[in-house]
Amino acid sequence: MPITLPDLPYPKDGLAPHISEKTLEFHHGKHHKAYVDNANKLIAGTDLENQDLESIVKKTAGDASKVGVFNNAAQVWNHTFYWNCMKPNGGGAPTGAAAQKIAADFGSFEKLVEEFKNAGVTQFGSGWAWLVLNGGKLQVVKTPNAGNPLTEGMKPILVVDVWEHAYYLDYQNRRPDYLGTFVEKLINWDFVNSCLA
Ligand code: MN
Repeated sequence: MPITLPDLPYPKDGLAPHISEKTLEFHHGKHHKAYVDNANKLIAGTDLENQDLESIVKKTAGDASKVGVFNNAAQVWNHTFYWNCMKPNGGGAPTGAAAQKIAADFGSFEKLVEEFKNAGVTQFGSGWAWLVLNGGKLQVVKTPNAGNPLTEGMKPILVVDVWEHAYYLDYQNRRPDYLGTFVEKLINWDFVNSCLA
């Protein structure tokens, strides 16, 4: 099976109380797993079967005949990336190269936070808010549904899932509170720095 469900990089209760064990149990164990299973079913016996996940995402983007493959494969990629973007006792001000690059491209960390949270709040319906490298510059973008900036030639650096399943058990309809907690308590800046390198 070319597409796999990776283990979470922390215990299921590792992000509590900000994201509960129950949310991670469903989000990783049910939602993410379903995308993995569906993607594998859809590529079985096709020329995509032996491709790596990123190639499958890029090759099926915008192809109306492959929309099911794209949606499931991109959701697998997005979720694996999202888990890595968080850690227990994370969040707060950036460190290392990210701190310098954010100051250079946004003027301040506060400005990035404002843009990032705004992207998450204003994504109508399901989707994702991203920090990406676009032509060597950091930029905030949002994508609907399974969208991924890789398909637009951008390099993802950080993502937050704004599908309701990511926060509804813990925050109900308070998406802005979830986004604020993500920034203040959860971001794994070490991972962000590894993506920037
Ligand atoms: Mn999700």
